[in-house]
Formats: sequence, C-alpha cells, structure tokens
Amino acid sequence: QNTINQIAAGEVIDRPASIVKELMENSIDAGADKISVEIKDGGTKLIRITDNGCGIDRDDIKTAFLRHATSKIKSVEDLMVVSSLGFRGEALSSIAAVCQVELITKTQDSFVGCKYTIEGGKEKGLEEIGAPDGTTFLVRNIFFNTPARRKFLKTPQTEAGYISEIVERIALSHPEIAINFINNGQPKLHTPGNGNLKDVIYNIYGREITNNLIEINEECEFAHLKGFIGKPLISKGNRTFENYFVNGRYIKSTILTKAIEEAFAPVMMQHKYPFTVLHLKINSDLLDVNVHPSKMELRFRNGKDLYPWIVEVLSEAIIEKPKIPQ
Ligand code: ADP
Ligand code: MG
Repeated sequence: QNTINQIAAGEVIDRPASIVKELMENSIDAGADKISVEIKDGGTKLIRITDNGCGIDRDDIKTAFLRHATSKIKSVEDLMVVSSLGFRGEALSSIAAVCQVELITKTQDSFVGCKYTIEGGKEKGLEEIGAPDGTTFLVRNIFFNTPARRKFLKTPQTEAGYISEIVERIALSHPEIAINFINNGQPKLHTPGNGNLKDVIYNIYGREITNNLIEINEECEFAHLKGFIGKPLISKGNRTFENYFVNGRYIKSTILTKAIEEAFAPVMMQHKYPFTVLHLKINSDLLDVNVHPSKMELRFRNGKDLYPWIVEVLSEAIIEKPKIPQ
C-alpha cells in the first residue's frame, strides 16, 4: 500500500514547488484571504504554509489524507468544470507519502485546534492544541523515504526559483489574497490583498514595468479579457514575462500566445516578447479541459472566434494608448 502511494505520489508531487502549489490551492479553496509561505533550502528541508481559511474538522482530518479523498467533487460532471481548483483528492495523501507532515488546523466552530502528524504515509499522532482559525502545514524533508527521487532535485536555489514562480502566479491570479513569501528567512514577496492587480505586479516586477502598463478590460458575447500588457518597450528575450490565466487558472496556451504576439508584432522588435498579465474569463463549455494534473495547456472550442477577438482588443490598446518616449 505504501509503495503504491509512493508511486502515485510521484505523479502529483515531483518537487517542492508542486507541494507549494497544491497547498496554496487548498488554502484558496478553503476561502483564505491571507496565505503565508515559508521555505528553507528550496523547500527541500521545510515548507510552511499558513492560511486563515475554514480549517479542517477534527473528524475529517484523517480522511483528508486518504487517496481520492476530496470534499470538492460532488459528481462526475464536476470534473469537467474547472471551477474548484482542487478536484483530485490526491495532494495531501501524496505529500504525506513522501514527506514528514505536521498539520495544525482549527475551524471557527471549534474551541480548540488539532495537530496531526503523518510521515511517509504513517500516522504519528493526533492531539488537541491551541491554534488560530485556519490551517498550517509544515512539510519537512521531501523524499526522505525515497532517495532515488531525492536525487532528481536540483540545487536549493533552483528549487526556490520554481517555488517563487508558483507563488507569483498565484499572487497574480488572486490579487484579493494577501500573500507573503519568505525564503530562508528573507522576505521575498508581499502582496497587500486589496484586489488591485497593479499592486501585485508592482510587488513582483518593480516600478519600471508598473509605470509602463496598458490596462485591458474588454468583453464580448463569449469572453471577458482583463489585465495589463507592457508597453512595447517593456519586453524580454523569452516568454517568462507572459502570464495568462483562464478562469483563474494559470495556463499555457498556444492560441493566446500567438494572438498576443500578433497584436504586438507591429511595435515589437524581433525576438522580443511582451509583458502580459491577462485574465480571460470564458464559459467553461468552451474549454477543452484536460484533467491530467500537471497539464497546463488548454484548448478552446471557439478558437476561430477567440483568436481574432483577442488580436483586435490588444491591437487597439497598443496602437491607441502608448506614448512611446522620443
Ligand atoms: P482536493 O483539494 O483535491 O480536494 P487534497 O488532497 O488537496 O484534495 O485535500 C483533501 C481535502 O483536505 C480537501 O478536499 C479539503 O477538504 C481538505 N483541506 C486541505 N487543505 C485544506 C486547507 N488549507 N483548509 C481547509 N481544508 C483543507
Ligand atoms: Mg487540493
């Protein structure tokens, strides 16, 4: 049973960054508006995630760590709709299978919190403890029991970089959540959680980019596109400055990338890519959802209409608004 769990775990959890992603998504699902993430040694030694969400009832704690335990899918149809972030019920069991986990959680209705410890899938204890409302996960020593996997981890610095990307994407997709990220005791990111996307962009990318943004906010019968793009001079030699979110999820999408690059083409130098933080809202009937956990690529059923609409919205914004310095 443990071996099966460890193998399955490897598909969901391949590095510290995937733990951070799964746990932050759970915090979001739990309704948190404050999440703090602390890591040591690229998350290989320690990941601590604290939220002020709904907490987990004492009676539900053990179940939450079972494979395919999810409080989030009610029917098979739900699986086709990407409304709730978590829908697989595999994250906690997978993390617990390959790490040393301590959970401290308290719901509002309960007078006292609970501390639950589980290591390599083996329960170590459940006890009452004083705690604030919400949930803290302490995850130590990833792959402590699977040395073969541990060998595939990169340097702590590189792993910290992957985590940083995840935290930034989540911050960009949730400006209404205050996010705090600390790496080896150093504050790396703090977003105010005031709902203002521009403030999040400022905290991640700094003043120059923030001062050179064009705001996008357009709607048509089938979609709503909202966010910011960089003025033509703000660009980079690769696509790391392009952020797309569809219905709140960070995704990669060839059609979005192409549409944006086509819109920018008249003003962009060769081999340069724009800065974008764009949120597309679209009816989920129009999405081809790939349910594989790690797939971020998404297909649109109405690509033929979507593509020209995005090119048009962005082209107009780029051509009308920027004042290009002399
Ligand atoms: P999923 O998110 O797909 O439901 P997980 O394994 O990630 O599966 O989590 C299992 C269950 O544990 C969730 O359905 C939820 O009920 C509970 N849970 C996990 N993290 C939190 C949290 N931070 N706050 C409240 N409940 C949580
Ligand atoms: Mg989850």
